[in-house]
Amino acid sequence: MRFRSRLFVDLARLESNFKHLKELCPNNEALFMVKADGYGHGAVPLVRFCYNELGVKEFGCATLGEALQLRNEIPDGEFEVYVFSDIQIYLAECAEQYLNRRILPVISNLEDLNFFLGCADFKHFPLVLKFNTGMNRLGLDLDQVEEVIKKIKQHGRKSIYHLMSHFSSASLSMEKSKRNAEQKERFAQLKSDFLTAGLGLERTSLANSGAIEQKAGLDETHIRPGLMMYGPSSLIKPERPNSFWKGELISRLETYIIRVFSVDRGTPIGYGATPVPDDGFIAVIALGYGDGFLTRFQGATIPYKGFEGKIVGRVNMDMAQVFFPKEAEKVLQSGEIFTVWDHDPERFLDFAEQTGTIPYELFCQLTSRVPRIYNFR
Ligand SMILES: *Cc1c(COP(=O)(O)O)cnc(C)c1O
Repeated sequence: MRFRSRLFVDLARLESNFKHLKELCPNNEALFMVKADGYGHGAVPLVRFCYNELGVKEFGCATLGEALQLRNEIPDGEFEVYVFSDIQIYLAECAEQYLNRRILPVISNLEDLNFFLGCADFKHFPLVLKFNTGMNRLGLDLDQVEEVIKKIKQHGRKSIYHLMSHFSSASLSMEKSKRNAEQKERFAQLKSDFLTAGLGLERTSLANSGAIEQKAGLDETHIRPGLMMYGPSSLIKPERPNSFWKGELISRLETYIIRVFSVDRGTPIGYGATPVPDDGFIAVIALGYGDGFLTRFQGATIPYKGFEGKIVGRVNMDMAQVFFPKEAEKVLQSGEIFTVWDHDPERFLDFAEQTGTIPYELFCQLTSRVPRIYNFR
């Protein structure tokens, strides 16, 4: 059990992020991406809140297991759940779950499409297709469009339930990046191919957070926000001034100071006996790599009560050492709460940059040893 090391998740901030999103794109429905356990925040409480309180009706997972968890733990939720990458529709035990629990597999290759269309059980099941317009990861190829259209028509379908594609470079400028422009163009052509062939498109989507932040990809019925809902911008630093996004982090990572002691310049501390850089104080905090506070965080700084703490020595499994200058003595006390990140997205993005990670990763790699505590003001 832990009391003071926790990820505090503020649902009121999730609500304000969502309201802000609706202001940015009032005409698009949100398919909220909650894969990897809601980017580490806990998918079930987030989905329950977004569905009950915010009216969000569509959610995106990466695996069937994630989707089943939502169905099992929120049994009366009449929302749509998509599975994006790890679909394994050809396995009988998976196909049965998609059908019986109404979970929508995103089909992104010809083999899966053939299986889906050829399986009588799926005859009236919504068809969701993802095309590769330049991401070059999953996705049906654009040179397969004709064949895809032919097969779909042969099986008597009149429309696609949801046609989608994914940007490879949405963290870059939507206006200046040639790749983004190409992808937009290819998707427009793709839609026109389907419509010209007489197939309806009930839903379409293209934009993830980076695109949405720049008001790109909003011509589609749907948007697929992930990271932005949790607070941070997805854009690379030089592009951030062009973002319309003003979200706040929905989480705050807190721990506390277990012990404070003074050190002299060169005092060796912890595993590896790393010498400290100067005279000052060491605060030992109750987070280590067993919590997802990684060894690569060594050297990064964390502001604390007007001072700058620096993570020194090797991060341990259960603890880490934070160095402070002598002047910080008056604010350092064992038992005090120590906040690694708070609701300020700039501070969080700065920590990601200092530690050579990305905001997505900082969220996702927190382990289950850190309790998630929810609050609605
Ligand atoms: C994860 C994901 C998203 C959301 O991406 P963000 O950058 O977090 O907004 C959107 N679409 C697909 C297909 C995804 O896999």
